[in-house]
Amino acid sequence: MLEKEAAAGSGQKLKLAARWLFCQALLAMEKTAPRRLAVSLLYHRVLPAPPSGYSVSWVRQSEFEEQITFLKESDYHFASVSEICEWAEGRVSLPRRSVHITFDDGFEDNHTYAFPILRKHCVPATVFLTTDLIGEDARIRYDPSGWVVAQSEERANMQCRFLSESQIKEMNANGVTFASHGRIHKRLWMMSVAELENEIIGSQRRIAEVVGAAPPFMSYPFGEFNATIARVAERSGIRCAFAVKLPLWRRPAVDQLYALPRIGIGGGTPSYMFRCLVSSYGSLYNLSQTAWKKRHELLSGSVWRPI
Ligand SMILES: [Zn+2]
Repeated sequence: MLEKEAAAGSGQKLKLAARWLFCQALLAMEKTAPRRLAVSLLYHRVLPAPPSGYSVSWVRQSEFEEQITFLKESDYHFASVSEICEWAEGRVSLPRRSVHITFDDGFEDNHTYAFPILRKHCVPATVFLTTDLIGEDARIRYDPSGWVVAQSEERANMQCRFLSESQIKEMNANGVTFASHGRIHKRLWMMSVAELENEIIGSQRRIAEVVGAAPPFMSYPFGEFNATIARVAERSGIRCAFAVKLPLWRRPAVDQLYALPRIGIGGGTPSYMFRCLVSSYGSLYNLSQTAWKKRHELLSGSVWRPI
Protein backbone atom coordinates (compact mmCIF):
# COMPACT_ATOMS: atom_id res chain seq x y z
CA MET A 1 0.00 0.00 0.00
CA LEU A 2 2.77 2.42 1.06
CA GLU A 3 4.78 1.49 -2.04
CA LYS A 4 1.75 2.21 -4.22
CA GLU A 5 1.29 5.64 -2.59
CA ALA A 6 5.00 6.43 -2.93
CA ALA A 7 4.86 5.48 -6.65
CA ALA A 8 1.77 7.67 -7.14
CA GLY A 9 3.53 10.53 -5.31
CA SER A 10 6.65 10.34 -7.45
CA GLY A 11 4.47 10.09 -10.59
CA GLN A 12 2.74 13.32 -9.58
CA LYS A 13 6.09 15.04 -8.92
CA LEU A 14 7.32 13.96 -12.33
CA LYS A 15 4.16 15.34 -13.96
CA LEU A 16 4.56 18.67 -12.15
CA ALA A 17 8.25 18.87 -13.10
CA ALA A 18 7.40 18.13 -16.77
CA ARG A 19 4.69 20.79 -16.71
CA TRP A 20 7.09 23.33 -15.18
CA LEU A 21 9.77 22.55 -17.77
CA PHE A 22 7.26 22.84 -20.64
CA CYS A 23 6.16 26.24 -19.28
CA GLN A 24 9.76 27.43 -18.99
CA ALA A 25 10.39 26.40 -22.61
CA LEU A 26 7.30 28.30 -23.78
CA LEU A 27 8.30 31.38 -21.78
CA ALA A 28 11.81 31.24 -23.29
CA MET A 29 10.29 31.09 -26.80
CA GLU A 30 8.24 34.17 -25.89
CA LYS A 31 11.27 36.39 -26.55
CA THR A 32 11.30 35.38 -30.21
CA ALA A 33 7.51 35.27 -30.71
CA PRO A 34 6.66 37.01 -34.00
CA ARG A 35 3.29 38.18 -32.72
CA ARG A 36 1.07 37.71 -29.75
CA LEU A 37 -2.49 36.54 -29.81
CA ALA A 38 -4.94 38.37 -27.60
CA VAL A 39 -5.89 36.04 -24.75
CA SER A 40 -9.39 35.80 -23.27
CA LEU A 41 -9.37 34.41 -19.74
CA LEU A 42 -12.40 32.66 -18.27
CA TYR A 43 -13.26 32.84 -14.58
CA HIS A 44 -16.42 31.68 -12.83
CA ARG A 45 -16.57 32.35 -9.10
CA VAL A 46 -14.22 34.52 -7.01
CA LEU A 47 -14.32 33.72 -3.29
CA PRO A 48 -12.33 34.57 -0.16
CA ALA A 49 -12.14 30.90 0.85
CA PRO A 50 -13.19 27.52 -0.57
CA PRO A 51 -16.98 27.20 -0.96
CA SER A 52 -18.81 24.74 1.24
CA GLY A 53 -20.03 21.86 -0.90
CA TYR A 54 -19.56 21.39 -4.60
CA SER A 55 -19.15 24.43 -6.83
CA VAL A 56 -18.29 25.30 -10.40
CA SER A 57 -14.69 26.44 -10.81
CA TRP A 58 -13.57 29.23 -8.49
CA VAL A 59 -10.45 31.19 -7.61
CA ARG A 60 -9.51 32.79 -4.32
CA GLN A 61 -9.87 36.57 -4.24
CA SER A 62 -6.16 36.81 -3.30
CA GLU A 63 -5.17 34.74 -6.37
CA PHE A 64 -7.37 36.88 -8.61
CA GLU A 65 -5.77 40.06 -7.30
CA GLU A 66 -2.28 38.60 -7.78
CA GLN A 67 -3.12 37.70 -11.38
CA ILE A 68 -4.59 41.12 -12.21
CA THR A 69 -1.61 42.83 -10.53
CA PHE A 70 0.82 40.68 -12.54
CA LEU A 71 -0.93 41.60 -15.81
CA LYS A 72 -1.04 45.26 -14.85
CA GLU A 73 2.65 45.39 -13.84
CA SER A 74 3.60 43.54 -17.02
CA ASP A 75 1.90 46.26 -19.10
CA TYR A 76 -0.78 44.06 -20.59
CA HIS A 77 -3.51 45.91 -22.44
CA PHE A 78 -6.89 44.98 -20.93
CA ALA A 79 -9.19 44.64 -23.92
CA SER A 80 -12.97 44.95 -23.79
CA VAL A 81 -15.20 42.37 -25.47
CA SER A 82 -15.94 44.85 -28.27
CA GLU A 83 -12.22 45.30 -28.94
CA ILE A 84 -11.69 41.52 -29.01
CA CYS A 85 -14.59 41.05 -31.42
CA GLU A 86 -13.44 43.86 -33.72
CA TRP A 87 -9.91 42.46 -33.60
CA ALA A 88 -11.24 39.00 -34.52
CA GLU A 89 -13.20 40.61 -37.37
CA GLY A 90 -9.93 42.13 -38.59
CA ARG A 91 -11.17 45.68 -38.12
CA VAL A 92 -8.71 46.85 -35.46
CA SER A 93 -5.30 45.84 -34.23
CA LEU A 94 -4.52 45.31 -30.57
CA PRO A 95 -1.35 45.96 -28.57
CA ARG A 96 0.99 42.96 -28.52
CA ARG A 97 0.25 42.14 -24.90
CA SER A 98 -3.55 42.03 -24.75
CA VAL A 99 -5.78 40.18 -22.35
CA HIS A 100 -9.57 40.02 -21.97
CA ILE A 101 -11.05 39.16 -18.57
CA THR A 102 -14.36 37.25 -18.66
CA PHE A 103 -16.65 35.61 -16.13
CA ASP A 104 -19.39 33.09 -16.93
CA ASP A 105 -22.77 32.54 -15.23
CA GLY A 106 -23.10 35.84 -13.27
CA PHE A 107 -22.47 34.82 -9.64
CA GLU A 108 -22.96 37.46 -6.97
CA ASP A 109 -19.39 36.94 -5.76
CA ASN A 110 -18.22 38.59 -9.01
CA HIS A 111 -19.61 41.82 -7.55
CA THR A 112 -18.49 41.20 -3.95
CA TYR A 113 -14.94 39.96 -4.52
CA ALA A 114 -13.84 40.54 -8.14
CA PHE A 115 -15.40 43.91 -8.91
CA PRO A 116 -13.50 45.87 -6.17
CA ILE A 117 -10.22 44.57 -7.67
CA LEU A 118 -11.25 45.36 -11.24
CA ARG A 119 -12.27 48.83 -10.13
CA LYS A 120 -9.10 49.46 -8.15
CA HIS A 121 -6.96 48.60 -11.18
CA CYS A 122 -9.34 50.19 -13.75
CA VAL A 123 -9.66 46.89 -15.60
CA PRO A 124 -12.57 46.31 -18.01
CA ALA A 125 -14.22 42.88 -17.93
CA THR A 126 -17.12 40.95 -19.42
CA VAL A 127 -19.70 38.95 -17.48
CA PHE A 128 -21.75 36.45 -19.48
CA LEU A 129 -25.05 36.20 -17.62
CA THR A 130 -27.47 33.32 -17.14
CA THR A 131 -30.34 35.74 -17.37
CA ASP A 132 -33.20 33.70 -15.80
CA LEU A 133 -31.11 33.55 -12.60
CA ILE A 134 -30.59 37.32 -12.19
CA GLY A 135 -31.19 38.19 -8.53
CA GLU A 136 -31.90 34.57 -7.56
CA ASP A 137 -30.57 32.61 -4.62
CA ALA A 138 -30.87 29.32 -6.44
CA ARG A 139 -30.33 25.67 -5.68
CA ILE A 140 -28.88 24.16 -8.81
CA ARG A 141 -29.07 20.51 -9.73
CA TYR A 142 -26.89 19.16 -12.54
CA ASP A 143 -29.00 17.35 -15.07
CA PRO A 144 -27.92 15.76 -18.37
CA SER A 145 -29.73 18.65 -20.11
CA GLY A 146 -27.89 21.30 -18.09
CA TRP A 147 -28.80 23.21 -14.94
CA VAL A 148 -32.15 22.69 -13.25
CA VAL A 149 -33.37 24.90 -10.43
CA ALA A 150 -34.03 22.34 -7.68
CA GLN A 151 -36.98 22.76 -5.36
CA SER A 152 -35.62 20.81 -2.42
CA GLU A 153 -32.22 21.09 -0.79
CA GLU A 154 -31.40 17.39 -0.89
CA ARG A 155 -31.70 17.28 -4.68
CA ALA A 156 -29.40 20.28 -5.25
CA ASN A 157 -25.73 20.03 -6.22
CA MET A 158 -24.93 23.68 -5.55
CA GLN A 159 -26.63 26.68 -3.95
CA CYS A 160 -25.53 30.21 -4.76
CA ARG A 161 -26.61 33.76 -5.27
CA PHE A 162 -26.57 35.42 -8.65
CA LEU A 163 -26.01 39.08 -9.46
CA SER A 164 -28.99 41.34 -8.82
CA GLU A 165 -30.20 44.01 -11.23
CA SER A 166 -28.73 46.80 -9.08
CA GLN A 167 -25.34 45.08 -8.87
CA ILE A 168 -25.35 44.58 -12.65
CA LYS A 169 -26.18 48.27 -13.18
CA GLU A 170 -23.42 49.38 -10.79
CA MET A 171 -20.81 47.17 -12.47
CA ASN A 172 -21.99 48.17 -15.94
CA ALA A 173 -21.49 51.83 -15.05
CA ASN A 174 -17.91 51.00 -14.04
CA GLY A 175 -16.32 49.18 -16.94
CA VAL A 176 -18.05 45.78 -16.88
CA THR A 177 -19.91 44.65 -20.01
CA PHE A 178 -22.80 42.19 -19.64
CA ALA A 179 -23.54 39.75 -22.42
CA SER A 180 -25.49 36.54 -22.89
CA HIS A 181 -24.78 33.08 -21.48
CA GLY A 182 -28.30 31.94 -22.39
CA ARG A 183 -31.37 32.03 -20.17
CA ILE A 184 -31.21 28.84 -18.16
CA HIS A 185 -27.76 27.28 -18.69
CA LYS A 186 -28.95 24.35 -20.72
CA ARG A 187 -26.94 22.33 -23.21
CA LEU A 188 -27.68 24.21 -26.42
CA TRP A 189 -27.00 21.25 -28.71
CA MET A 190 -29.97 19.44 -27.13
CA MET A 191 -32.37 22.21 -28.20
CA SER A 192 -34.52 22.69 -31.28
CA VAL A 193 -33.89 25.76 -33.44
CA ALA A 194 -36.97 27.48 -31.93
CA GLU A 195 -35.71 26.78 -28.40
CA LEU A 196 -32.28 28.06 -29.34
CA GLU A 197 -33.74 31.30 -30.65
CA ASN A 198 -35.76 31.72 -27.47
CA GLU A 199 -32.65 31.07 -25.37
CA ILE A 200 -30.44 33.55 -27.22
CA ILE A 201 -32.94 36.29 -28.07
CA GLY A 202 -34.69 35.96 -24.68
CA SER A 203 -31.43 36.45 -22.79
CA GLN A 204 -30.50 39.43 -24.98
CA ARG A 205 -33.87 41.04 -24.22
CA ARG A 206 -33.42 40.54 -20.48
CA ILE A 207 -29.97 42.17 -20.55
CA ALA A 208 -31.41 45.11 -22.50
CA GLU A 209 -34.12 45.50 -19.82
CA VAL A 210 -31.45 45.84 -17.11
CA VAL A 211 -28.68 47.86 -18.77
CA GLY A 212 -30.49 49.52 -21.65
CA ALA A 213 -28.91 47.63 -24.56
CA ALA A 214 -27.65 44.12 -25.10
CA PRO A 215 -24.18 43.93 -26.63
CA PRO A 216 -24.06 41.44 -29.53
CA PHE A 217 -21.87 38.87 -27.80
CA MET A 218 -22.42 35.56 -26.03
CA SER A 219 -20.59 32.65 -24.45
CA TYR A 220 -21.87 29.10 -24.82
CA PRO A 221 -23.04 27.31 -21.64
CA PHE A 222 -20.54 24.47 -20.94
CA GLY A 223 -18.51 25.88 -23.85
CA GLU A 224 -20.45 23.55 -26.17
CA PHE A 225 -21.44 24.59 -29.68
CA ASN A 226 -21.94 23.30 -33.18
CA ALA A 227 -22.62 24.75 -36.62
CA THR A 228 -26.41 25.02 -36.03
CA ILE A 229 -25.93 26.90 -32.75
CA ALA A 230 -23.45 29.28 -34.41
CA ARG A 231 -25.87 29.89 -37.31
CA VAL A 232 -28.81 30.61 -34.97
CA ALA A 233 -26.60 32.92 -32.88
CA GLU A 234 -25.58 34.84 -35.99
CA ARG A 235 -29.21 35.08 -37.15
CA SER A 236 -30.19 36.32 -33.67
CA GLY A 237 -27.80 39.26 -33.97
CA ILE A 238 -24.76 37.84 -32.14
CA ARG A 239 -21.50 39.08 -33.72
CA CYS A 240 -18.99 37.12 -31.67
CA ALA A 241 -19.42 34.04 -29.47
CA PHE A 242 -16.96 32.61 -26.99
CA ALA A 243 -16.24 28.95 -26.34
CA VAL A 244 -13.77 27.53 -23.84
CA LYS A 245 -10.89 25.34 -25.03
CA LEU A 246 -11.22 24.41 -28.65
CA PRO A 247 -11.16 20.68 -29.32
CA LEU A 248 -8.17 19.52 -31.34
CA TRP A 249 -10.33 17.28 -33.42
CA ARG A 250 -14.04 17.12 -34.28
CA ARG A 251 -13.98 20.89 -34.51
CA PRO A 252 -17.22 22.04 -36.13
CA ALA A 253 -16.99 24.06 -39.32
CA VAL A 254 -18.06 27.43 -37.96
CA ASP A 255 -16.75 30.90 -38.62
CA GLN A 256 -14.01 31.66 -36.09
CA LEU A 257 -16.05 34.62 -34.80
CA TYR A 258 -18.47 32.05 -33.35
CA ALA A 259 -15.75 29.90 -31.81
CA LEU A 260 -13.49 32.36 -30.00
CA PRO A 261 -11.35 30.46 -27.52
CA ARG A 262 -10.87 31.27 -23.85
CA ILE A 263 -8.46 29.89 -21.32
CA GLY A 264 -10.15 28.74 -18.10
CA ILE A 265 -8.42 29.80 -14.88
CA GLY A 266 -9.13 27.58 -11.90
CA GLY A 267 -8.16 27.90 -8.25
CA GLY A 268 -4.63 26.96 -7.24
CA THR A 269 -3.07 27.86 -10.61
CA PRO A 270 0.63 28.38 -9.77
CA SER A 271 1.93 31.80 -10.83
CA TYR A 272 4.45 30.25 -13.31
CA MET A 273 1.55 28.47 -15.00
CA PHE A 274 -0.54 31.63 -15.15
CA ARG A 275 2.39 33.46 -16.80
CA CYS A 276 2.67 30.60 -19.25
CA LEU A 277 -1.06 30.64 -20.06
CA VAL A 278 -1.10 34.37 -20.87
CA SER A 279 2.10 34.16 -22.92
CA SER A 280 2.23 34.06 -26.75
CA TYR A 281 2.26 30.29 -26.64
CA GLY A 282 -0.29 29.94 -23.85
CA SER A 283 -2.80 28.35 -26.20
CA LEU A 284 -0.22 25.67 -27.01
CA TYR A 285 0.05 24.84 -23.33
CA ASN A 286 -3.73 24.91 -22.98
CA LEU A 287 -4.21 22.61 -25.97
CA SER A 288 -1.58 20.18 -24.69
CA GLN A 289 -3.60 19.90 -21.48
CA THR A 290 -6.81 19.34 -23.48
CA ALA A 291 -5.18 16.71 -25.65
CA TRP A 292 -3.93 14.87 -22.57
CA LYS A 293 -7.38 14.99 -20.99
CA LYS A 294 -9.07 13.70 -24.15
CA ARG A 295 -6.55 10.87 -24.33
CA HIS A 296 -7.29 10.03 -20.74
CA GLU A 297 -11.06 10.16 -21.41
CA LEU A 298 -10.63 7.83 -24.37
CA LEU A 299 -8.56 5.37 -22.37
CA SER A 300 -10.93 5.42 -19.43
CA GLY A 301 -13.89 4.89 -21.76
CA SER A 302 -15.78 8.03 -20.76
CA VAL A 303 -18.07 9.49 -23.36
CA TRP A 304 -17.13 12.51 -25.43
CA ARG A 305 -19.34 15.50 -25.33
CA PRO A 306 -20.79 16.08 -28.79
CA ILE A 307 -19.25 19.43 -29.66
ZN1 LIG B 1 -21.66 28.55 -17.52
